[in-house]
Amino acid sequence: MTADSELPAHLRFVLVRTSHPGNIGSAARAMRTMGFARMELVAPYRFPDAEANALAAGADDVLAQAGVHTGLIDSLAGCSLVLGLSARRRGVTLPEISPRDAAQQALAAAARGEQVALLFGNERTGLENEELARCHAMVRIPSVDDFSSLNLSQAVQVMAYELRLAMLGEVPVPAPVPTAEPPADAARMEQFYQHLAQTLEDIEFHKGRAPTTIMLRLRKLYQRAQPSERELRVLHGILADAQRMAQLAAGRGGD
Ligand code: SAH
Repeated sequence: MTADSELPAHLRFVLVRTSHPGNIGSAARAMRTMGFARMELVAPYRFPDAEANALAAGADDVLAQAGVHTGLIDSLAGCSLVLGLSARRRGVTLPEISPRDAAQQALAAAARGEQVALLFGNERTGLENEELARCHAMVRIPSVDDFSSLNLSQAVQVMAYELRLAMLGEVPVPAPVPTAEPPADAARMEQFYQHLAQTLEDIEFHKGRAPTTIMLRLRKLYQRAQPSERELRVLHGILADAQRMAQLAAGRGGD
């Protein structure tokens, strides 16, 4: 169990491909007012930048400690729960939850000692399908349909506020269910998906169909299951055997 005072350290705000450094600063301020300090930036267009510091309005410590990554997966290191904020329902059919439910799930996971990421997309294009595919759920702030997109830092503020309310006990957080083994983190899941994709090719599963759709479906399935590292090892073992059999069969076919 994580002590209440340590919960914020288990939550990270990941800003993906942010265009305007001012938004990074405003997001830092929004986080800091609600007690959060861990910001990760994925391929920001301009950072560090004076405009970011100006709009952080004193939350410079958040900016100074922010991790900067070239790819999304690096920014998710150690995370077993990834929640993607998006104004629009995309092609990817993820479970859609409210910021309030997201806050509850995030805090319950943090209380179990897990690391949680909240993902925010680019100002113009939002989160791409590829990025949402890394998420366990999509969080939608219930804005109106014909003008649904909030400013990035304001979306960060809403989410940080809901987390703060939940931490203050204003919203009941379900008692954590003790689990024997924590779910594997994003990097391990990614390794598994790559092995799975390679195996499907090796066993000629696709037969001319595009592998993208089936891989997105399979990601969803395994994300729902939240396998532990030990369970992933079993799955890797099965895949490796399937690859070995495919290689043997290919050898025989060539006789
Ligand atoms: N046109 C983009 C909007 C990007 S706004 C789109 O339709 O996705 C920048 C980011 O702020 C989004 O990627 C998302 O992370 C967050 N955001 C803005 N409005 C939101 C809303 N109503 N619900 C959840 N997240 C939202």
